[in-house]
Amino acid sequence: MKLTFIGADHEVTGSCHCLEACGKHILVDYGMQQGLDVFENAPLPVPEAAIDYVFLTHAHVDHSGLLPLLYARGFRGQVYATDATVDLCSIMLRDCAHIQLMESEWKARKAKRGADIAAIEPLYTMEDAEGVIKRMVACHYDSIVEICDGIKIRFTDVGHLLGSSSIEVWLKEDTTEKKIVFSGDLGNERQPLIKAPKRTAEADYVVMESTYGNRLHPAPDGDFATELAAILKETFDRGGNVVIPSFAVGRTQELLYFLRQIKVDRMVPGHEKFPVFVDSPLAVEATEIFHANRMDCFDEKAMALVKEGINPISFAGLKLAITSEESREINFNDTPKVIISASGMCEAGRIRHHLKHNLWRPESTILFVGYQANGTLGRAIVEGAKEVKLFGETIQVQAQIRQLRGLSGHADQAGLIWWLEGFEEKPKKVFIVHGEDSVATGFAEMLKIEHGQRAYAPYSGSIFDLGANRFTYEAEPVRVEKKRPVASGVYARLVAAGQRLLAIIKKLDGLNNKDTAKFADQVLNLCDKWDPDK
Ligand SMILES: [Zn+2]
Ligand SMILES: [Zn+2]
Repeated sequence: MKLTFIGADHEVTGSCHCLEACGKHILVDYGMQQGLDVFENAPLPVPEAAIDYVFLTHAHVDHSGLLPLLYARGFRGQVYATDATVDLCSIMLRDCAHIQLMESEWKARKAKRGADIAAIEPLYTMEDAEGVIKRMVACHYDSIVEICDGIKIRFTDVGHLLGSSSIEVWLKEDTTEKKIVFSGDLGNERQPLIKAPKRTAEADYVVMESTYGNRLHPAPDGDFATELAAILKETFDRGGNVVIPSFAVGRTQELLYFLRQIKVDRMVPGHEKFPVFVDSPLAVEATEIFHANRMDCFDEKAMALVKEGINPISFAGLKLAITSEESREINFNDTPKVIISASGMCEAGRIRHHLKHNLWRPESTILFVGYQANGTLGRAIVEGAKEVKLFGETIQVQAQIRQLRGLSGHADQAGLIWWLEGFEEKPKKVFIVHGEDSVATGFAEMLKIEHGQRAYAPYSGSIFDLGANRFTYEAEPVRVEKKRPVASGVYARLVAAGQRLLAIIKKLDGLNNKDTAKFADQVLNLCDKWDPDK
């Protein structure tokens, strides 16, 4: 019985853990790395074709995005997830495959035109995405699912995204029985629309996220709708648009929930009929899936509306733009409006067009409503970049840049601790994952010192023996090498020069005189002069 840490170790994205028990190999999540990659991920302990099952906590791409790759490389087992997660994956993994394809076509075109860029194969194809979607097994919340002899699981709603779950895993090998709980991403109890997180009572081991392990969400000044309405009013009075980069799945539907309330309560006086565009085909599809799963996943407030026959995420004036022509038309009329578009961190998708049309306009507002990872365009704008590059053009940032922080899909430090304290007895070990380097380390330390938890943040590649309750291998962090530019002709000449230098040095082997020392000094001086890290 062992657990190997693969991804999202001292990092936030690329979640993946590998369980080995009862002769089976199981992945818990297989997510894609997004934003800045700091540490190398260890390879899977067995080839993809030897993975028997995947237990998937939720549909976010940083947890599910490599599943099609798993299929492409021979995985033919089952992926267990909740009903809503299966629904969401069926659109999100297709969308991922589509993005891969577009990106590789774009790079191939650029490479052909002689740009200094390597053509790449897409990581996987639409067929791979569809292949793995067919292998998904939909499970209900709160019911025990027998996986095979010795292994059973149960999904619990943790209120982070529609369908999101923590997973309890019971393992039994001969006389050894262990229970390990994977938190998945833990939700924020103040999140609207979906249910609040639920806790789990028992575990030998816990693997838990730590995204906000170092901070508390600010106490709300008023409620979110009031704050949002004030920003809409200011911007519309100036004649500008409110552009909201938003995750297509989850955050967009929450925004629709608040915008419906703002409309119904007439909270933007003078602009009651303001249009709202959702410009993301994925967001439009996801909105339908939210509606379809309302009975299982919506919280009491949202269900009260549903019972009155009201759709809590729809209203008059909502325009779901889908074709790229409809998308372009949004910026042709100058009625002040709300534009919600993806991706949420501005790295791809139609949001980049809306940024191009609005970033330079002092009357517009770019409103950030979600986490912006290190290294993304969204983070750069939030941190006050004066200009940004979009579609090869330099765009001045003159729009108002605002952030609504209260809306977070993640528990804050207090929420994480609340969840962990749900275990009636302290777990034998709490593995801290899914947090930036210093956050994961700091959170584990804090749990240890202030809460007496046996917490530890392992690096990728570490292997823990669940039966013996000890690490059999503790990996060192491996930093991702800075990407070097593609070798050009001049660079090849430099490499040849280096090789000649080494050849000469080898000829001097055995000699021990003043000249060799002088030569060494000369080489060292040259190194000092040219070393980019000095
Ligand atoms: Zn998530
Ligand atoms: Zn996550």
